[in-house]
Amino acid sequence: MTPYAWSCLACEATNAASAARCGRCGWPARATRLQIEATRAAYRQRAGLPLVVAPDTTALARQVPWLPIAAVVLLLPGWLLLAVGTGGSAIAFGGLLVALAALCVSSYRAPPR
Ligand SMILES: [Zn+2]
Repeated sequence: MTPYAWSCLACEATNAASAARCGRCGWPARATRLQIEATRAAYRQRAGLPLVVAPDTTALARQVPWLPIAAVVLLLPGWLLLAVGTGGSAIAFGGLLVALAALCVSSYRAPPR
């Protein structure tokens, strides 16, 4: 039971605060994400509604061009250290960052379309 009127996450019906289950579909007032997704998909399929597919964050993360991004992130401080660095260790570290940036660029393969 919730202290407020609640919307069913499976069928979106509004239910009284005292209701422990949805009056339309019987779904409990409290559920895990996986229970909600499974019940919502089953309800929408029975009702003939199009399925709502949650975005696949893993697939989205795979589409991000991480190596070019890393190259820029490494190149900027590396170039700065090479340009204005005083002392051998600063210049050496700048050179290392630029070399890592070059490695990122050379390792990057554009995903197939
Ligand atoms: Zn419901």
